Amino acid sequence: MEYDIQKIRSWFPVLEKKVYNRPLVYLDSAASAQKPVQVLMREEELHNDFYGNIHRAAHFMADKATVEFEAVRTKVQEFINAGSREEIIFTKGTTDSINLVAHSFGEKYLHKGDEIIVSEMEHHSNIVPWQLIAGQKKAKVVKLPFTDTGEIELEVFKNLISSKTKLVAVAHVSNVLGTINPVEKIIEIAHQNNIPVLIDGAQAIQHIPVNVQKLDADFYAFSAHKMYGPNGVGILYGKKKWLSEIPPYQGGGEMISEVTFEKTIFNDIPYKFEAGTPNITSVIALGAAIDLIEEVGLKNIADWEQEILRYTTAKLKEIPDLKIYGEAPEKSSVISFNAGKTHPYDIGMLLDKMGIAVRTGHHCADPVMQHFNIQGTVRVSFGMYTSKEDIDFFIEALKKVIDML
Ligand code: PMP
Repeated sequence: MEYDIQKIRSWFPVLEKKVYNRPLVYLDSAASAQKPVQVLMREEELHNDFYGNIHRAAHFMADKATVEFEAVRTKVQEFINAGSREEIIFTKGTTDSINLVAHSFGEKYLHKGDEIIVSEMEHHSNIVPWQLIAGQKKAKVVKLPFTDTGEIELEVFKNLISSKTKLVAVAHVSNVLGTINPVEKIIEIAHQNNIPVLIDGAQAIQHIPVNVQKLDADFYAFSAHKMYGPNGVGILYGKKKWLSEIPPYQGGGEMISEVTFEKTIFNDIPYKFEAGTPNITSVIALGAAIDLIEEVGLKNIADWEQEILRYTTAKLKEIPDLKIYGEAPEKSSVISFNAGKTHPYDIGMLLDKMGIAVRTGHHCADPVMQHFNIQGTVRVSFGMYTSKEDIDFFIEALKKVIDML
C-alpha cells in the first residue's frame, strides 16, 4: 500500500496551525503525539450521546458507556495480543502503570537485600518507583549499563543476574537514544532464571507491533497520549498469574466485591487494580486511536518512520560538529543530538521561534546524560504524520540557528 502522508496529515487538524505566524513543524511526538479528528470526534460523541459513570447505575447512559469502555479493553487486548482481557488494566499513564507494579509486586515479593535490575537508559518513571520501593524494603536497584552507541549487552546483563534478582525493568525503546532493546532476549534470559520482566513500552507501542505473548513479558506498560490517543490514560498489561497474586495498588470503589468495617474482599482482576472512577472519556477515545493505527497499519507506519529516521539521520550527519547520541543499528523514531558547543536550550528556543517544536533538556533520563557527561540534548521525534518536508524545513532552520549561535 502506498503510504498516503497527505491523507494522514489531514486527520490531524493541528498540523495546519501556524505558530509565530509560521507553519507548525511538530517534531516532539515522543513527548506526546498530536490527536486525530477521529479521536476528538469520539470524545465529543461520548459526551453528546451516552455519557454516564460506568459499571454501576442501571440506566441507558451508564450501560452504553460501560459497554463502550469495556470494548476498548478488548481492543487493547487484541492490539497487543494479550491472552485475556482481564490482563489489561487502565491506569493514568505509563508512570502510573510502573508505580502500580513497583508498589504491588514490591509489597509482595521484595525483601531485604533483594535486587531489581534497571537499565541505565530508563526514563525516570522506570527508575524512581523502583528506588522508592527498594528504599522501603531495604532492597537495591542495580544498574544495567549501556554502551556508548546506546546498546544493552546481553553478556553484561547475564552477569548482573543473581539469586538476589527479583525483577528486571527495561524500556522497549529508549526515549533519548531511540534504541530498540532486545527485549525478547532479555525476557528469555530472565525467565531462564525465573525472574519476571517489566517492559516500559511508552516509546514502542506506537512504532512497533507488540505481541506480549510472543515476547512473554510479565508486565508491559504504555500511555495512550503517545499513540495518538487522549492524555490521562495508560495501560498496564500483566500476566494473570502476577495480577492475581499481587495486592491492590489503591483502595476505593470498583476494586472491591464486599466491604465491612472488619475486612474487604477485593474484586477480581482487572478491577482489583482500578479503584475509583476511571478516565471514561479518554479510554473510550483511545479505542478510536487504535482503530486509526490499525487502519493505516502499524507495519506501514513503522516503515514510513524508519524512512524518516534514515533521512533525518543522514541530513544531520552532514552538519559539521554535530553529535548524535544513540547509534544502535536497531533504532526507532527518536534522534538526540548536540551541535558543537551550542546549548540545547538555545537551539530549541530559536527553532521554536521558527515554528519548529523540538524537545531539549535531559528528557527525564538523567542517567543517560550522566553517561555522556552532558547537561542535555536536542531531541527530534516522529509520528505517523511526520513528512520529509517537515525534516527539510527543520534541517534548514537548524543550520541557520547553528550559524547564529
Ligand atoms: N517511559 C518512557 C520511555 C517515556 O518516554 C515516557 C514519557 N516521556 C514515560 C515512560 C512516562 O510516560 P507518561 O508521562 O505518559 O506516564
